[in-house]
Amino acid sequence: MDVPTKLKELSKNLYWAWHPEVVKLFRDLHPELWRQVNHNPIEFLSRLAEQALDGKDRDTPFINRLTQGIRKLHEYLEACEVWGAWHAGPLRAHPVAYFSAEFGIHESLPIYSGGLGVLAGDHLKAASDLGIPLVGVGLFYAYGYFDQSLEAGGWQREHTFSAEAGILPLEVVKDANGKPIRLPLKTESYEMWVGIWKASVGRNLLLLLDTNVEGNSEQDRTLTSQLYGGDRRTRIRQELVLGVGGMLALQALGIKPSVVHMNEGHCAFAVLALAHLLMERDGQSFDNVREQAAAMTVFTTHTAVAAGHDQFDPSLVEQVLGPLRRQLELSEQDFLGLGRVDPTNKKEPFSMTVLGLKMSRSATAVSSLHHRITTAMWNCLWPSLPQNQVPIGYITNGVHVGSWLAEAMAELYTKYLGPDWREKMHDPTTWAVVEEMDDVELWEVTQDLRAYMIDYVSRSVGRQERTRAQDGGYEYVDRLRLDPQVLTIGIARRFAQYKRLDLILRDLGRVDWLVNHVHRPMQIIFAGKAHPQDDRGKSIIQSVYQITQDPRFQGKVVFVENYDINVCRHLVQGIDLWINTPRRPLEACGTSGMKVAMNGGLNLSTLDGWWAEAYDGYNGFAVGQGSEHSNWDHQDHIDATSLYDALEFEVAPMFYDRDADGIPRGWVARQKHALRTLTWRFSARRMLIDYTLGCYLPAAGGLTSSMRVDTRLVTGTFTSPHHEAGRAPSRTI
Ligand SMILES: *Cc1c(COP(=O)(O)O)cnc(C)c1O
Repeated sequence: MDVPTKLKELSKNLYWAWHPEVVKLFRDLHPELWRQVNHNPIEFLSRLAEQALDGKDRDTPFINRLTQGIRKLHEYLEACEVWGAWHAGPLRAHPVAYFSAEFGIHESLPIYSGGLGVLAGDHLKAASDLGIPLVGVGLFYAYGYFDQSLEAGGWQREHTFSAEAGILPLEVVKDANGKPIRLPLKTESYEMWVGIWKASVGRNLLLLLDTNVEGNSEQDRTLTSQLYGGDRRTRIRQELVLGVGGMLALQALGIKPSVVHMNEGHCAFAVLALAHLLMERDGQSFDNVREQAAAMTVFTTHTAVAAGHDQFDPSLVEQVLGPLRRQLELSEQDFLGLGRVDPTNKKEPFSMTVLGLKMSRSATAVSSLHHRITTAMWNCLWPSLPQNQVPIGYITNGVHVGSWLAEAMAELYTKYLGPDWREKMHDPTTWAVVEEMDDVELWEVTQDLRAYMIDYVSRSVGRQERTRAQDGGYEYVDRLRLDPQVLTIGIARRFAQYKRLDLILRDLGRVDWLVNHVHRPMQIIFAGKAHPQDDRGKSIIQSVYQITQDPRFQGKVVFVENYDINVCRHLVQGIDLWINTPRRPLEACGTSGMKVAMNGGLNLSTLDGWWAEAYDGYNGFAVGQGSEHSNWDHQDHIDATSLYDALEFEVAPMFYDRDADGIPRGWVARQKHALRTLTWRFSARRMLIDYTLGCYLPAAGGLTSSMRVDTRLVTGTFTSPHHEAGRAPSRTI
């Protein structure tokens, strides 16, 4: 067997990213190198010394694993008996084009910053698993986001790096003559060139646009290099490349989508490019194709903070998009009006969300509570309608179970739910048998996963402390260690102010009491990045870091640097309790808690985002009762008190109340209840089925009424009024 060729084949399709048996195949060849290359199999294979593979072709156990890995990949790619084959047939010839400014597929492909990107990555993976034909369209950020470390005093330091496309699972898209395709994109007073990369994500493709190509000015070459870097002009030009360049790229590849799904406002120019294609094809005016373009378009909005919506100064829009406007044969006023609540208001900025809402047949929020916020926020676009008739629905986010589930949990699922649980995980009835799981068995897995996670965190923190000591010129002291038997709490996400990561640190006396309790101790693991321009976020990180250095909390409260998909995956698989305390109602959804729940961890959160609809009194714990005070300090005080009380009087007693066998029966009952009620419902599989039946098929003109009934039975989450009404294609103002 040609071992290097087979390994290379496995490294080329991102399928490996959610198949732990393939990951282990690579890792076991050289665990240290595997970590050094940030789990990137292509770089790994290129740096693996040839001797490392010596004799591997005679190593029978290894050859068996490799053969099986390849066979399973082929089976996966060729399978016909997939959900999409039965339910998404109309998308086969004309797939969904899924646009997103970021895609978080794996830590080694640095084209994401946080939740939005990870959601898009999970969307692609779940679409592939289900056999839903879907092409992702995004940007290639050679410098990615940034790597985080903390200085000696705890201040965040950002490290940029330059990803080499050569060591990523990307291929240049070429034309029939083998020449790289260069798309001409009109902007300002000239044309710039856009190149295309492609990646295979299971059965589906991801296209990434890149302006770093020959023929472009130096400034244009760096346009797509950084995620959310640069000024407003950079941003709008990136969005032009994403939306308009993305439609051109699909066309160049001969892909004619039946549906354009715009994931958040950044990519909303896509629908204008679509309109232009329709104008050219049919020789029609913009007004005549406008409804048709909107009828093919699905828009998801993710922002619950009014100021968080992407918007641009009108003069900047005209400057950068003037050429597109002229192609659409629109006056400046009419063009700008597409992004304004009041088209006649010359002062109003151009909002990408308004563009998305006006130019789509289905617009969705990402949770039930976010739906309420969104319909109130955008009621102004439909002033004659009461809020409950605003034509925006919601599909609650979900996570890709294959990417986030610990192997030991997957084995438990296989044992109790049957070997085909992955194919039926979106069905609540699949999960009823969870109640029959052996408490001892589940608790043993929980203990093992916690110990494994603690080991990972201890090693990471130790490494970071050593580096910090070196940089700061002081002596490294080996700190006290986290304890694998202690109730372990995770608090990890972006350090944005409304997320209140430091809420738990409001009263250090009480934290001291909780953490250092003689019989019921706790330990807390923090992680998260602050946006490079967010000094407030950075000072919160700094204060958290300083608390980790307080003698009362050393070895009990720790901060793990560089929160990314890798850190997140380790934490969610072993944490006992995941705390999330956003200031309601500012969290649109949140997904990390879903990853925790499927692994047997419990959530303790404010009733915001997904938790507002997920919490049933027994599948985790709540902070507060869903109140919203306008006095933030007062709200913080109420919520912090409720958080401490929950930890002291509910969580800790339940976790430490052991029976004669050493099992915390009450805790395990809650774990099971969480597994049963949350995993199916907040899986990306359920989310994709909702999107397909609720949005994609209607947009592609392929929905039958029997499927609609089916959806509601299967998911029970399909509750948005406008989907059920099958909203008319045009709802432009
Ligand atoms: C899942 C995930 C998120 C989103 O989680 P939130 O609950 O929205 O914070 C963010 N960042 C990373 C790296 C993730 O894996």
